[in-house]
Amino acid sequence: MDLKALIRDIPDFPKPGIMFRDITTLLRDSQGLTHVVDQLTNQCHNLDDKPEYIVGIESRGFIFAPTLAYQLGVGFIPVRKKGKLPAQVHSIEYNLEYGTDTLEVHQDAVHEGAKVMIVDDVIATGGTAKATADLLTRIGCDVVSFGFIVELKGLNGRSLLPDVPMVTLVEYD
Ligand code: AMP
Repeated sequence: MDLKALIRDIPDFPKPGIMFRDITTLLRDSQGLTHVVDQLTNQCHNLDDKPEYIVGIESRGFIFAPTLAYQLGVGFIPVRKKGKLPAQVHSIEYNLEYGTDTLEVHQDAVHEGAKVMIVDDVIATGGTAKATADLLTRIGCDVVSFGFIVELKGLNGRSLLPDVPMVTLVEYD
């Protein structure tokens, strides 16, 4: 299936010079949605190191991470923007193109040494996924893999991440 044909390209969003890869057009297509979830699931079944939890990054990671967790029969952990989680959290501040942002996870989200896979819709510079991996390592997780629907290869986000398997379905230069 040609997933690129289902992903809409929006130039200059949210800022001039950015080509935004809009997955809402993929999500609304029933066959496209089924294909993405099935492909993601199949590739995860092939991983040697099976995750015990799927971690989703707010907010578009929340579309795919719990879906994948359900498919794999494991739990889902949310990593959220600052101030949203109700219990005690660990936080990490990271650099965006302009300014900074903060991600948080519950301190008691997982047991020490839990194997986790981090999932988001798109990897661009890799800064968000890297910050998430650092945050999870801080609470004692073992990050065993990453999963993204779209990889923007030209930005080489992969190079920022730990050297573990990365599942991606669509690549742009
Ligand atoms: P980064 O930290 O640069 O890897 O950016 C990743 C986050 O920004 C992801 O959560 C994506 O949803 C979003 N993002 C960055 N660039 C794009 C893009 N060109 N199209 C769609 N989403 C993007």
